[in-house]
Amino acid sequence: MEKKIALFPGSFDPFTKGHEDIVKRGLQLFDEIIIAIGYNSQKSNRYFAIDLMVKYIEYTFRNYPNIRVATYAELTAEFARRHDAKFLLRGIRNTTDYEYENSISQMNRKLYHELESVFLITSPQYAWISSSIIREVHRYGGDVSDFLPYDINVAET
Ligand code: ADP
Repeated sequence: MEKKIALFPGSFDPFTKGHEDIVKRGLQLFDEIIIAIGYNSQKSNRYFAIDLMVKYIEYTFRNYPNIRVATYAELTAEFARRHDAKFLLRGIRNTTDYEYENSISQMNRKLYHELESVFLITSPQYAWISSSIIREVHRYGGDVSDFLPYDINVAET
């Protein structure tokens, strides 16, 4: 049978325990998951550097040979097609996420018809974790370690 490859695309600025939870649960559905950090080469306005985030995510899943980390600067649908990923994995926390996810999944299917979006409802303990709140707390020196699956204070390896 064909390998079921899913793409888990996002900004992951930063990658949180909520994201980690979605990936781990996704492994029950897919043979392989590609965590893909999307970025815009024209305007890089990230808070956490993309190369650093790749390292942190790779470290988080160092014991999972079926999880890969990639970066991309093209349409998510195109990236999925090029990597033979027929599934898009996304997490939903609330109705705001739902509205947004609904429209992008319709668009993605128009762009790549075989692409099926699969949504997992967030685990309740992570429902309020958002990358933007973590950025804000970190910016002002707050401790965000409880929300991240890796240690952000450890120097790059
Ligand atoms: P994007 O910029 O594409 O919204 P994010 O990095 O914010 O990327 O999120 C990637 C995916 O993870 C989205 O589907 C988002 O809804 C989901 N997600 C974000 N935070 C959580 C969380 N705490 N629990 C579950 N899913 C989440």
